[in-house]
Amino acid sequence: MRIEQDLKLGFKDVLFRPKRSTLKSRSQVDLTRDFTFKHSGRQWSGVPIIAANMDSVGSFDMAIALSQHKVMTAIHKHYTVEQWAEFINTNDASVLNNVMVSTGTSDADFQKTKDIMALTNDIIFICIDIANGYSEHLVEYVERVRAEFPDKVISAGNVVTGDMVEELILAGADIVKVGIGPGSVCTTRVKTGVGYPQLSAIIECADAAHGLGGRIIGDGGCSCAGDVAKAFGGGADFVMLGGMLAGHTESNGEVIEQDGKQFMKFYGMSSQSAMDKHSGGVATYRAAEGKTVLLPYRGSVEHTIQDIMGGVRSTCTYVGAAQLKELTKRATFIRVQEQENNVYG
Ligand code: 5GP
Repeated sequence: MRIEQDLKLGFKDVLFRPKRSTLKSRSQVDLTRDFTFKHSGRQWSGVPIIAANMDSVGSFDMAIALSQHKVMTAIHKHYTVEQWAEFINTNDASVLNNVMVSTGTSDADFQKTKDIMALTNDIIFICIDIANGYSEHLVEYVERVRAEFPDKVISAGNVVTGDMVEELILAGADIVKVGIGPGSVCTTRVKTGVGYPQLSAIIECADAAHGLGGRIIGDGGCSCAGDVAKAFGGGADFVMLGGMLAGHTESNGEVIEQDGKQFMKFYGMSSQSAMDKHSGGVATYRAAEGKTVLLPYRGSVEHTIQDIMGGVRSTCTYVGAAQLKELTKRATFIRVQEQENNVYG
């Protein structure tokens, strides 16, 4: 039996060490990044935060709201081609450049992606998403999508180790999505015992990807703006958020009233709720690997996204990074056994 002895860390295990800085205010910090992607050669400029492709987060309304901040949305895969057509017809490139079309890996998914991409040239991102990115099948699917869409930016995942990041990039992915088990409504670690602490996964996968000219998305596990900053500090080029953006008007989740208070339903994409809604229940050979929770309804996402961006800007001022791009270089993490003071709950 081989046991790896290196300690792997999550966001809660570290803090940034502050550094001397010439920056006077967080308003001097630029969160915009400019990327040119490896295979597609496409350029994109924006704030590299992505709303997750979950059906109570990655909605068309979310994309419209977040694109005003140049923030991206991975649109969940349950919209029809007709709904896509309407969305595309009523929005311009400032929105469409900042969305990802999500897809699974079946033949039907492939055809649907082709149908959506045929509607416009303004959509440039395709997000190939399966829970277990270690399947050979994903590599073959990435090759197939790359052959069909040579000039689109392809993201593939999810994985957590450098070997698989390299394999997916060599197969044609511009971006690899990283995260198994850290999600707020994910129960994979409990149901299967499989996972990898997210900060270490990001650090190791970023190293592998950047060595080949690829990029990574740190996906899942951020519960506050500080975690988003830590993900960027660890080397994530993009950070994907589910729970932090759920519960808002634009999340389009089901609103439920209890004792005079409003809540919004939020659930994992492999939870019982999601499978009941989209697949007619949980198949007998599998277990649900996601939770369903009720979040206090939080109104518009506007305040939340500003709060997240403000937090990351502030991190940058503490370590002297004038641009988000410099955050990883400027970051030194210290290992800690405490985070915030919870004396008032
Ligand atoms: P969060 O930001 O809420 O911590 O994590 C969001 C991420 O959790 C998603 O982008 C996706 O990768 C992952 N996720 C979403 N639904 C499920 C699920 O039902 N099971 C698992 N294992 N992961 C999920």
